[in-house]
Formats: sequence, C-alpha cells, structure tokens
Amino acid sequence: MIKYFYIESYGCQMNIYDNEIIITILTNNNFIYVENIYKADLILINTCAIREKAEKTIYNRLLFLNSIKKNKILGLIGCMANRIDYKYFFKKKLLNFIIGPDKYRLLPNIIKSLNDNRYSYNVILSNDENYNDIIPNKLYSNNKVSSFVTISRGCDNICTFCVVPFTRGREKNKSPISILNECKKLYDLGYKEVILLGQNVNSYLWNEKSFIKKNIINKKKSINFTNLLEMIAKSLPNMRIRFSTSNPQDMSIDVIKIIKKYNNICKYIHLPFQSGSNRILKLMKRKYTRLEYINLVDKIKNIIPDCSLSYDIITGFCSETNKDHIDTLNLMKYVKFDFGYMFCYSHRKGTYAYKKFKDNVPINIKKYRLKEIIKLQRKHSFYRLKKYINTIQEVLIEGISKKNKNYWYGRNSQNSIIVFPKKNYNIGDLVNVKIINNTSATLIGI
Ligand code: SAM
Repeated sequence: MIKYFYIESYGCQMNIYDNEIIITILTNNNFIYVENIYKADLILINTCAIREKAEKTIYNRLLFLNSIKKNKILGLIGCMANRIDYKYFFKKKLLNFIIGPDKYRLLPNIIKSLNDNRYSYNVILSNDENYNDIIPNKLYSNNKVSSFVTISRGCDNICTFCVVPFTRGREKNKSPISILNECKKLYDLGYKEVILLGQNVNSYLWNEKSFIKKNIINKKKSINFTNLLEMIAKSLPNMRIRFSTSNPQDMSIDVIKIIKKYNNICKYIHLPFQSGSNRILKLMKRKYTRLEYINLVDKIKNIIPDCSLSYDIITGFCSETNKDHIDTLNLMKYVKFDFGYMFCYSHRKGTYAYKKFKDNVPINIKKYRLKEIIKLQRKHSFYRLKKYINTIQEVLIEGISKKNKNYWYGRNSQNSIIVFPKKNYNIGDLVNVKIINNTSATLIGI
C-alpha cells in the first residue's frame, strides 16, 4: 500500500508552488510527505518543458530513478505530462502514471487505484481549475521568509516560441479574496515577503462572474492587477510584495504608480523583452515594439527612479541575423539592466515557431551571441551595483551566505543580493546595511 510520497521538482517558481498544493491534496487524504527519497513508496517528478535541456535532464533522471526504484511507484506530473510519449514509458514500465498540471485533485484516487499492472494518464487542460480553495502546505518549505503565491495559471498569449499555453492551458485567475487570505496566512506564519506569480501577472483580471480572463466582458467592474496589488499592500503593510512576470504589453502606468505609492511593494520589475529587434519581436508575436519597450522603461524610471529592472532574452530565434542581435545588445546598452536571464532559443514541438519557422541559427552562433549578452550584462550589473556604494539599504535577511558562514545574505527592495556580518541579527529581520563594496552579482555591506 502506498503511504509515503516524495516530490522532486524541476523548472520555474510555479512548480515549487504547485508542489505545496500537491502536498496539501495528498496529506489531506492521509498520505505522508517525506523529504528522503529512499523512504518514499511513491516518487512524483514535477516537470518543466520550456527548453529541450530541461526535458533531457528529466529523461535522464527518470532512467536513474528507475534503476534505484525497486518497488516504488513513479509518477510524472507538470508541464511535460502532455508532451511525453506515454505509450513508450508505460510499455517500458518506466512510469506508473502521468498527470497534467490541472489534474492534481485526482492524485489521491489515482494513487489508491494503482497496482502493478495499471497505468493512469490524465493530461486534460481545464478552463476552470485554479486551485482557489487549496491553501498550499508550507511546512516543508526551506524558505520561511519569502513565499510564492500563484495568482494566475496558464497564459493567453501565444508567443510563437513558447510551450506554456499548451502545457498549462488558458489564463485562469485566482479570486482576490483567496489570494489575500493566502497572503494573510503567510503573514501569520511569520513570512515577511510574498512573490505573486503568473505567466503574465499584469493581465490579471477577475470578477464575480468569471475568473477566466477571456470570458470577462465588463472590465470596469472587474478587479485588475493594480487593484489586487493595492489591496494586498494596504492590508499587509509589513509584508514585502514582489511579483513576476510582467509582460511589457500589459504593464500599465497605474501599476507603476501603485508600486511607487506603497513602501512595501518592492521597487523591482522583471520585464522580459526577448529580443531588441522589431523584426524578431513580430515573428515571436510579442505585442510591443522596441520603441514601446524603451518608452515603458523611461516611464518606469521617471515615476520610480530607483526601480531596478531585469529581463529575459532569447538569443538565436529562427532567422535571427547579426543585425537583430546587435539590436538586442543596443537595447541592453540603453537600459543597462540590473540583471537578466538569458537563453539560447530552443525549438519546441507544438509551438507556432516549430510548425512555421526553421530553427536555422547554428548552435555555435547561438552560444556565441549568448556569451556576448552575458558579458555585457556582467558589465551593466557591476555598474548598477557600484551605485549602491556608501548608501544604506534595507535588507530582509533570508539566510546564511554561501561563501562565508559568518555572513547573512538578503535582498533590498530592488532585489539585489547583499551580504554582511551576522552580529545579533536573525533570519527574517529587516536590517539597515551600509554598502562598502560590490562584485557584478553581490553587494557587500556592514
Ligand atoms: N510568460 C513570460 C513572458 O512571456 O514574458 C515568461 C515565462 S517563460 C516560463 C520564462 C522565459 O523562458 C521566457 O521569458 C523566455 O525568455 C524563456 N523561453 C520560453 N520559451 C523558450 C524557448 N523556446 N527557448 C528558449 N527560451 C524560452
């Protein structure tokens, strides 16, 4: 009989949050979560499909787990669920079940009904599953200071490179009351920061009649992201609030003003631009131009001069030329981002780009361009961090510095990592730190 379960997770913050939803669902049904894989009867692998590399890592891990699993049951869940060749994996007895991100409520019954010769497969994407009523289990979280709160699932943008709409379905928003209750509960548990999550948080829209974005007709009578942010900031003035990801097309001036208005909303925006070339942005079906992006950055900096900015870039998208690449570098030079996440383009089966375009930028060129982007970002990060020297930063302590046991690490409002001597402070304290030095990744303070 299956009793003890273990979850191994890959990919983005959404999956970390989903693990906690799954732990709640299973522990409410008398299963017991264990943190040691060898003590588990059931191993769940929560997967990521965003790039080929992630999928390869997971396939290798599946083979390894099969070599050690003995009598254990193995279930694959998350974003790879509807992409995997389930017939092969079941035939080879490499997996016992495969469940998509909208079907976690079925897990207890599926597990109870399993025996050696039965396999379960349910990857149907739902228009109305937002796990609104499930409070994620925080008992096993390593981070007791900062917590993710998913406010919306899925995505309504069909960017041509992206698998998310196919792996996680359409945008489904959680109710503001349920989000607020979750944040309040986290505050009562001692959390000092929430990070609101969604593929595109700025497109958040909810009203009593529908939480499915595409079905909402009366936008004026609905609660949008600005309203939601303000509601949380007002109700929990001692809680720091962050959010990710903001799609430039949906970032409104109202949101920027609300970020400025409330001290507890962090002055940091993650604003993926993917490419600095208008031609490539169009091919990616991003709904903004290079100039619109630049204008947005200017507006943010005008309203909140100390706001830090980060981005996602995909380099080597189908047909990207050296000129397109230079447009990307020039956009970076204009903004001088605080930091960024950069990726080589990965041609994903099922996407529009996979069907219509050729993945024709050679891998060595992709890697060369990525190297140039990383090098430039290091320079900009160093430049941005240097500006903090001799300033006092309010730091939320998150844990012990990896490089020096006698130092804490934490973040300021702008999301910069700051290390400083421990003294008598504790994890979760907000401390004023004077910055005395920097690298391209870290601020060092006293
Ligand atoms: N929804 C957000 C947006 O579109 O702005 C980002 C979510 S996605 C999970 C995170 C990042 O992965 C994207 O911003 C993009 O840079 C990167 N990404 C997505 N698809 C990719 C692909 N096929 N190849 C390389 N990187 C990809």
